[in-house]
Amino acid sequence: MAKKQNPPLHCDFCGRSEREVELLLPGLNSCICNECAERASEIAKEYLHHTSTAKVDDLNLDDLPKPVEIKEFLDQYVIGQDQAKQYLSVAVYNHYKRLAQKVSDDVEIEKSNIIIVGPTGTGKTLLAKTIAKMLKVPFAIVDATVLTEAGYVGEDIESLLTRLLAACDYNVELAQRGIVFIDEIDKIARKGDNPSITRDVSGEGVQQGLLKLLEGSVVNVPPQGGRKHPEQKMIAIDTKNILFICGGAFEGIEQKIAQRLNTHVVGFGADKHVSKEKREQLLHFVAPQDLRSYGLIPEIIGRLPILTNLEPLDRNALLKILTEPKNAITKQYCKLLEMDGVKLTIDDDVLEYVVDKAIEFKLGARGLRSIFETIMIDVMYNVPSMKEKTYELTKEYAQKQLEKSNFELLANAV
Ligand code: ADP
Repeated sequence: MAKKQNPPLHCDFCGRSEREVELLLPGLNSCICNECAERASEIAKEYLHHTSTAKVDDLNLDDLPKPVEIKEFLDQYVIGQDQAKQYLSVAVYNHYKRLAQKVSDDVEIEKSNIIIVGPTGTGKTLLAKTIAKMLKVPFAIVDATVLTEAGYVGEDIESLLTRLLAACDYNVELAQRGIVFIDEIDKIARKGDNPSITRDVSGEGVQQGLLKLLEGSVVNVPPQGGRKHPEQKMIAIDTKNILFICGGAFEGIEQKIAQRLNTHVVGFGADKHVSKEKREQLLHFVAPQDLRSYGLIPEIIGRLPILTNLEPLDRNALLKILTEPKNAITKQYCKLLEMDGVKLTIDDDVLEYVVDKAIEFKLGARGLRSIFETIMIDVMYNVPSMKEKTYELTKEYAQKQLEKSNFELLANAV
């Protein structure tokens, strides 16, 4: 007798049988086809999008982290830089306050964009990325070096906002309340002390464009970024409520500070040791006038009312960076080996050695990771296949590994 055939399975949403669809996903007592699943996912996204907009619409100050809490969060990831952390925390909190403010209030809270001056590799981007993790508004990091004045090669100023739009799935309302971190703002400073009659490509013209964004105006943003072209459909964004945080190394600004303070560090080369220390101290005194002498136009400086600086990282700070942040490189390696069932211990003198090499190669905090990775490569390769359940990293081994890798040559080549 012929065996009774099961009826063909079908999608319980659109009714089509398994022969009519590409894929049928079985559930407990029902099935869904790939097309219905995709549609369901779109509907879910739209719904969640809507609810997140609503969330931003009624920011409740009681539910938001206070400046002290924001700073405590930053402390978990960023070593030192207390002043900058404090300024950032207050600025972000005030940004929330502005967004929560009722339109009918007679006192309108103005936004306070920030500018952070600090040597490269001291944590500007790290601060920005870390704060992004806890923000209740969309956030984007952009680089000022890609900008040029409209008409020249490069991206248009408005493209700075493309990232922000992308960060909130092109929801204009959300983007208009977001925060943008503009890195390397010093790269658009006017070159040379005197304003030239002909505008320079990467200077004042770009600054004028940026000013428009900082001041608050409605700009047309190319959704794909890059250069605008006539056929492209633009998205209009009002920048009135977007908070801008700018960062830059402003290399050599110490000289401008020194000139203003009338201190004699002009002979930088004369005594290198003294001048380096003096230079580092001078950065504490950075003032808006110095940014102006450096080549930022006064209108831009006026729109970045909060000016703070980052400290250069000394040996002690570098040691802490290796071990203390929540995602410190040494913690990451311990975790990686732990997943293989191996307990990694790192001798203290290994840490000191790594820091000394980072200083010697003039790589700063950025070099710590690459040095450590170079030392660990063979361990990472071999340990997972070994029987031992512990591994001790010693200075002798670290030294041997680094020498073997010709790291010095590589570091010098960078
Ligand atoms: P920049 O100031 O040039 O933006 P970054 O923030 O990109 O520097 O720092 C480079 C790397 O160095 C970071 O990814 C981080 O690993 C490390 N680093 C720099 N400064 C700090 C700091 N203050 N605390 C912890 N890690 C830091």
